[in-house]
Amino acid sequence: MRDSRTHQPLTYDVRLPDEAQADALRLLDESKALVNAALALLWPHLDEFDTDRVGPAWKQVGKYIASPSPHGDRQWRCESEVVGRVLRAQAERKRAFELIEPILSDGFIRKSTDKRPAGKNRPAIKEAITTLQRSLQEDETSFVALQNVVEQCCNYYFQQDQFPPTYEALQPLPLLKVGMLTYAGDDGGAKGQAYRLALDVDAGIARFRFRYPDEAGIWHWRKVDTIIPLPEIVKERLTCGELMAPTLREEQRVDGSRIAVLDFIIEVEKQEMPTWEAVSRVLGADWGVHTLLTATAVDEHSEQVGRPFFLNTGGFDGRQARTRRQIDELKKKVAQYEEQRDALPFDHPKRTWYNQKLALFRREIDRCWRKYEQRNRALAHLASNVLVLLCQVHGCSLLSMESLTTLKTTGRGRGVKGRWRNYRNNTTVRGEIWRLLRYKCHLIGLRFHTERPRGTSHTCPRCGQPAKTYRDPSDRKKAVKWGRWLFCDACFYNGDRDYCASVNIARLGLAYLVQMKQTGKARFCSITDPRVKPVSYTGAGAVLLLPPTGNHPARNIRGKICYYSGWLGSAFLQSSHKKHIFLRLCG
Ligand SMILES: [Zn+2]
Repeated sequence: MRDSRTHQPLTYDVRLPDEAQADALRLLDESKALVNAALALLWPHLDEFDTDRVGPAWKQVGKYIASPSPHGDRQWRCESEVVGRVLRAQAERKRAFELIEPILSDGFIRKSTDKRPAGKNRPAIKEAITTLQRSLQEDETSFVALQNVVEQCCNYYFQQDQFPPTYEALQPLPLLKVGMLTYAGDDGGAKGQAYRLALDVDAGIARFRFRYPDEAGIWHWRKVDTIIPLPEIVKERLTCGELMAPTLREEQRVDGSRIAVLDFIIEVEKQEMPTWEAVSRVLGADWGVHTLLTATAVDEHSEQVGRPFFLNTGGFDGRQARTRRQIDELKKKVAQYEEQRDALPFDHPKRTWYNQKLALFRREIDRCWRKYEQRNRALAHLASNVLVLLCQVHGCSLLSMESLTTLKTTGRGRGVKGRWRNYRNNTTVRGEIWRLLRYKCHLIGLRFHTERPRGTSHTCPRCGQPAKTYRDPSDRKKAVKWGRWLFCDACFYNGDRDYCASVNIARLGLAYLVQMKQTGKARFCSITDPRVKPVSYTGAGAVLLLPPTGNHPARNIRGKICYYSGWLGSAFLQSSHKKHIFLRLCG
């Protein structure tokens, strides 16, 4: 593995094809049992994993235990690599614990009152850690690592009414809950003795073969290669990165079923973050009420750059809702058939018929879930790509993103039930987009910052005054909290609600940027803070490189650029001039 300061590993998980699932899961069960037994055995030696960490982790484990089962030397190395990595990570946490132990104090705990339950006094914790770090100049333990352990200690306090006396009291034996096997202990994809992995990038596939225990517990090589279609993103990354040993992993689904996935790990060069001085434009992105995402770029003179961008998912939501309904109906059928089957005498011949039908339904449920999850993932990838692309198009090096705490939902879908379902799906998709964005920004050297949405939908972006929203541009009789049109009584500006919110998120991002430039320190700003400047839009700012822009400010829906998620794999942009552009986007 190369230097972690200049390179970073990226992980892409791919579900193994059905033909390999059972064997892979059996392999994972077996190796999990061995890993957990070894962890239990070595837990008392935890300290040695902090000091004596030269060379690969499997070697260190090998000093204490040899393969407990004659299932192959390289296979055992891979298992010991997992054991060693877990112990090394734990040893690091233990060192962090020893650093923070002297500063643990009752001041970290906010006592319960009539109005609030007990909690953590975060400002006190932050201050104490900062002071501690200043006194430990040599130590490289990060703030986040220290904070994380302090929080774990506080949680312990809530349960035991005292801080933990030792690290071992704080941290129970860290056993694997699901199977995980890294092939990093083996001799590589071409010569491996526990696995083989060959890439055929032209054909877009990987050939994977592995050793596994059969149902009788006898270890074999699999007779055939498992053909894994490579996702586009993996092909893309392989052009500039290096493929490392993969990790085989078990994933548990919402419904309790298990699947085996293979993590492709590609090491790429890190991009440097731009200095604050170099950042001059901000892209503000808001989780819309009527669209999934809305984004607007603003420059440091508080001038909007180009047109706003609306990410519309109409057809997508409908399809997801249909798949969910299909799953619900199948589940109902399963329950029905199970009941009818169980009512039969134990040796009744029709039981077999029921069991076959049930197996069929369950497979179908599984297929629907997979389709549902795949669609969500594809959408999240595209949405994050579009935002990253917009940053590049508009020259924004800071992405200011509305935080995830919001409860906004696109009220599509009929009735409370439909809306709830949409809400749940939106939450999942947003979480995925947020996670991808944070990581993609890191990867290409964009700064990423989240802002609290409070008030951003009910503030005029042009003058900064509170403003009301209405159902429709032509109907100003009654203000509606979720209305799609914002009117400002102070300056008479009016505009699409989601667009206004995205400008406001950009304004908050801009205030943050200015503070970082001036003082190097960020302070939380509310949307009413005078440091959050109004944004003007003359339409004469920088020209958008994508579709041509008109001469009129984006005061109405006509001027917006829409992106439809109906085309997964390519983005479909529509400008007010009805000119369509297809873009190939890469991860
Ligand atoms: Zn106004």
